[in-house]
Amino acid sequence: MDSLQKTSYPYRMVAGVDIGNSTTEVVIASIMENDIKYLSTAILPTTGVKGTIQNVDGVLETLKVAADQASIEISDLSAIMLNEATPVISEIAMETISQTEIIGSSMIGHNPDTPGGRGIATGITRHIENIRIEGDVIAVVPAEYDFEEVAEKINAAFDEGYSITGVILKKDDGVLVANRLKKTIPIVDEVLNIEKVPLGMKAAIEVAGNGETIKVLSNPYGLATLFSLSPSETKDIIPISKSLIGNRSGVVIKNPEGNVKSEKIPAGSITMADKDRKVRVDVLEGAEKIMQARSALDELEDAFGDQGTNVGAMLGRVKEQMSELTGLSDIKIKDVLAVDTFVPVKVSGAIAGEYAMENAVLLAAMVKTSRLPMEKIAQALSEKTGVYVKIEGQEANMAILGALTTPGSDKPLAILDMGGGSTDAAIIDKHGNIKSVHLSGAGEMVTMIINSELALEDKELAELIKKYPLAKVDSLLNLRFEDGSVKFMEEPLDPDFYARVVVVTPEKLIPIRGGKKLTLEKIRLVRREAKKKVFVTNAMRALTRVAPDGNIRNIEFVVMVGGSALDFEIPEMISNELANYRIVAGRGNIRGSEGPRNAVATGLVIHAREG
Ligand code: ADP
Ligand code: MG
Repeated sequence: MDSLQKTSYPYRMVAGVDIGNSTTEVVIASIMENDIKYLSTAILPTTGVKGTIQNVDGVLETLKVAADQASIEISDLSAIMLNEATPVISEIAMETISQTEIIGSSMIGHNPDTPGGRGIATGITRHIENIRIEGDVIAVVPAEYDFEEVAEKINAAFDEGYSITGVILKKDDGVLVANRLKKTIPIVDEVLNIEKVPLGMKAAIEVAGNGETIKVLSNPYGLATLFSLSPSETKDIIPISKSLIGNRSGVVIKNPEGNVKSEKIPAGSITMADKDRKVRVDVLEGAEKIMQARSALDELEDAFGDQGTNVGAMLGRVKEQMSELTGLSDIKIKDVLAVDTFVPVKVSGAIAGEYAMENAVLLAAMVKTSRLPMEKIAQALSEKTGVYVKIEGQEANMAILGALTTPGSDKPLAILDMGGGSTDAAIIDKHGNIKSVHLSGAGEMVTMIINSELALEDKELAELIKKYPLAKVDSLLNLRFEDGSVKFMEEPLDPDFYARVVVVTPEKLIPIRGGKKLTLEKIRLVRREAKKKVFVTNAMRALTRVAPDGNIRNIEFVVMVGGSALDFEIPEMISNELANYRIVAGRGNIRGSEGPRNAVATGLVIHAREG
C-alpha cells in the first residue's frame, strides 16, 4: 500500500492479539478519540506452547487473515497489543492408582456382536473332537471347523446322552451354530486366540439376550459360586468380574496355573505450598482430597511429588518440558486440578485383548514463568512486522474489558474465560478495580477424560463427542437423537451405520467405534460427567477466589467467554450450579456480534484506547 492510500486512514489502527493455549485470536480496529471501529477478526490454532517463541508464526498468520479482511497491510498498523501470555503448560497426566495383572490364561471377556444361544454354563473345556466324556463339557472349536460340522458333532453327542453345556468358537459363527443345535446353550464366538484357551479346565461361559448384558460372570459373588472360591480368592477375582461388566458375553476359565495379582503402584504424594503453608496429600486418596487441600491454600508457590513415584515423575516432566521450551530454569507450578477418572489397562494374560478399567487420578498442572519469554515474542513480532508491539496487562483483565461489550452487561461483573488449557476468572467492581485468577484445567482435559473413560484411543473422536450431540441410527431412514427427538432421513444412510451410535456434527454423522460396545446412554453420561468434573469444579474454584471477601454469594452477574463457552451444555451446567447462589450467569456476546469469542483481543483494543 503506498503512502497516499495510507493517509486515507486518519485513525490510529491497532490489532489486539490473544495467544491462547488452543487458539490465537485477533481483532483489528481503528481508534479515534473515544470511538473504536472494529474492522475485522480472525482466529487460527496457536502454534507451539502458549507463551513461547513458536507462537510468532501463528500470530503472523492470524494477523494476515485479519488484515486481508480489513483490506490493509500489517505494516499499516500503528500498534499490536499482545496479551501477557505467561507460558502455561497444562500438562495432563493420568496416574493409575492401582494396576491389575492377571497371570496365565485365566479369562476371556469380550464382546462379539453376535454370540449364539444364551444362558450360563459351566463345564470342562475339551477340544471339539473329544467332547464325548462324562460330566459337563464346554466344546472348544478352532477355525478349521465350519458351523455345520460343529453343529453335527454336538448334536450327535447330545443324542448319545453327553452333556455339552456351551461352546467357544474361534470364528464368527455363533448364531449359525446355535440355529442348528437341538438345545439352547450359550455360544461365545470370535475368540481370536483360541489356542490360548487351556483344555481340561473348569470354565464358565455366559451369553446375554439381545439388549442385555451378562449378570453372573460380571459379579464377583457369581464367580465365587460357580468356582467355589474362598473369600480371599473372591477378592482376587474382582478385576476379572469388573472387566466383564457391560459385555454381551464372557468366558472365565479357572486355570490352576493362572493367578491374579493386583498390585498397587506407588502413586506417591503431592506437596503443594503457598507462601505460608505446605500440604501433602497421598494421590491414592483421590481427587477430592487433593482439591480440598488445594482450596485451603492461596495462590500456589509451587507443587512437587516424591521422587520415584508417579506424581513425582509427572510434575518433574512438566517442569522439565517448560524449562526446555523457555530456556529458563526456575519453573514453578501455579495450580493443580485433580479429577478422578478411569483408564483402560490391558489385562496381561487375557485371551482376546481384554482390558480392565482402573481407577486413576488425572492431574492438570499449570506452570508459569516470568515475563521474559513474552518479551522475546514481542521483539520477534516487531522485527518481522516493523510495527510497534506492546505487551498489555493480564489476560483475565483484558477479557473482562472485552466481556463488558456484551449487550446488557455492566459493572460490577465477573467473567469466566473457559479455554483449552486454563479456566480464568476476573471480577470488576463499580470503580473499575479488577481482580483475576488463572486456574489449570479446561476443554482439553474434558476431551482427555472422554477419550480415556470410553477407551477410544482417538483424541479427535473424543473432541467431536465433546462438542456435538449423539444419536442412534434406529433404521437406515431414521435417526433418534439423545433428547428423544426423531429425524427421518431423505436418503437412506450407509448400511455401515445401522444400529450404531453416531455423533451428529454439522457436516456429517460420525459412527462411534469404541473398545467396548458403547451405548448412547453411557457415552452421554461420561461426556456430561467429564464436563462437570472440570468446568463446574473450576467455575466454583475460580469465582470463589475472585469474589469479594472470598464469598461467591457476593457475585451477582457472570459472563462466560472463551471457546468452551461455545459448548452446547457447559454454560448451562455452570448457570444451574450458580443459580444455587442466586448468581445470574450466561454466555457472553462480545461486541454484540462475536458470541463468547474474541473477548481478550477486544479488551486489548479497548485498553489501548484508554491507556
Ligand atoms: P485458549 O484461549 O486456551 O486458546 P479457546 O478459548 O480458544 O482456548 O478455547 C479452546 C477450547 O474450546 C478447546 O478445548 C475446544 O475444544 C473448545 N471448543 C471450541 N469450540 C467449541 C464448541 N463449539 N463446543 C465446545 N467446545 C469448543
Ligand atoms: Mg483464552
